[in-house]
Amino acid sequence: MHEMANIVIVGGGAGGMEIATKLGHKLGRKGKARVTLVDCAESHVWKPLLHEVATGALDIGIDAISYRGHAAAHGYHFQQGAMTDIDRETKQVILAPITDDSGEELLPARRIDYDYLVVAIGSIANDFNIDGVRDNCVFLDSTEQAMEIRTILLNKFMRYASHHQLDEKIKIAVVGAGATGVEMSAEMHHAVDQLRGFGYKIDSTLLEITLIEADKRILPKVEKAEISESVAKELSAIGVKVMTDTRINQVTSEGLHTSEDEFIPSDMVIWSTGVKAPDFLKEIGGLESNHINQVMVQQNMQTTRDPAIFAIGDCAACPQEDGSWVPPRGQSARQMALMTADNIMLLLNGKTASNNYVYKDLGALVNLSKFHTVGNLMSFIGGGVMVEGKIARFVYTSLYRRHLIELHGPVKGTLLMFAKGISRIIHPHLKLH
Ligand SMILES: Cc1cc2nc3c(=O)[nH]c(=O)nc-3n(C[C@H](O)[C@H](O)[C@H](O)COP(=O)(O)OP(=O)(O)OC[C@H]3O[C@@H](n4cnc5c(N)ncnc54)[C@H](O)[C@@H]3O)c2cc1C
Repeated sequence: MHEMANIVIVGGGAGGMEIATKLGHKLGRKGKARVTLVDCAESHVWKPLLHEVATGALDIGIDAISYRGHAAAHGYHFQQGAMTDIDRETKQVILAPITDDSGEELLPARRIDYDYLVVAIGSIANDFNIDGVRDNCVFLDSTEQAMEIRTILLNKFMRYASHHQLDEKIKIAVVGAGATGVEMSAEMHHAVDQLRGFGYKIDSTLLEITLIEADKRILPKVEKAEISESVAKELSAIGVKVMTDTRINQVTSEGLHTSEDEFIPSDMVIWSTGVKAPDFLKEIGGLESNHINQVMVQQNMQTTRDPAIFAIGDCAACPQEDGSWVPPRGQSARQMALMTADNIMLLLNGKTASNNYVYKDLGALVNLSKFHTVGNLMSFIGGGVMVEGKIARFVYTSLYRRHLIELHGPVKGTLLMFAKGISRIIHPHLKLH
């Protein structure tokens, strides 16, 4: 090992940013290790906010954190680039070249040395190889995709606002009624209401949103069926058409075909049916992976075939003692990150990575834009407690509060939350450009 250990974290999302910050504070600042974060993007936007970016409810100019600026202030280094492979022989991460919009190479392919590597590159929507999905749907996997959805939506609204005929509607299908699909459906309704305030001659009756779910109820992963019922009622009240027990087997530029041979015409299809890790992880560096490309790890987050490589968050398959797997959630990514930082510090001190990750389901909350917040808290005790309204909304935002506090410290993190609150009061409620 070099004099000073190289710790490389690939992916600066919900998990990666927290581990980089913790190791930057504990090791980088004190000259005990060189900590490097790699991300293909220039700035960090917390993924659970992407549906708000997609409707313009959130201005990433305010919410995005520059990796370079954050790295300089928190004791770690930043390298922009997309990981394409890992060379385990030479202990190097391989990054793709960076090109500008015209395709001209700005930076060549690079190799970065590591002694310890943390793979935290998250997940993408799972298209289950269904015909036409990749070509005809939009996804909420990255900030760029969320911005693309926003542009498509605003362009449609602009066109309809000037040529609107009463029998014409904008037909949007959202496939997958997990939290992402449900929240996106409500957020779009809210966006239309807000646009009216900007002088657009439109209202939410212009929008025909169909939320489609293969399971018998929406939010199938939420334990309490009452929550699904309460959310379904609320969605119907704001005009979202909910179709459960419906499987899509083809998507075309015109709409969706169900397995029952029904055709659902759509101007835009948002695909949000569960996640998989990116395809290139399948065989990266000869590491072991599962059927959805997640890297197999032990409970201490070390990969099963290489103790120098850890994987955390959505891209990791972490087993639990009862035979279950940790679900892909912001809360688990964060907890894994903080624990993995401790394990790496143990290894640096010549000890074993002895902390094991035990997932404790704190519950799930669904926020239907301004309309309603509902969910289940403390699911680990006998099915948990159902909460609604202001309390639920407060707890819903607490995961983001904790993320900001972890990244900026308690004083700046809390001030930032206040600043965002004030910004929401003084700035327009929608970002239109
Ligand atoms: C709309 C939406 C709402 C959600 N709401 C909630 C919620 O309310 N509660 C909850 O617990 N979870 C929620 N989730 C899930 C949560 O966002 C994820 O579980 C969490 O972000 C996973 O964290 P992560 O660190 O594994 O990956 P991510 O946060 O996705 O970060 C991955 C990072 O890796 C980078 N990256 C990707 N590929 C490469 C590459 N090849 N090379 C370099 N960098 C790369 C990306 O740019 C990104 O910065 C939501 C997800 C979505 C999409």
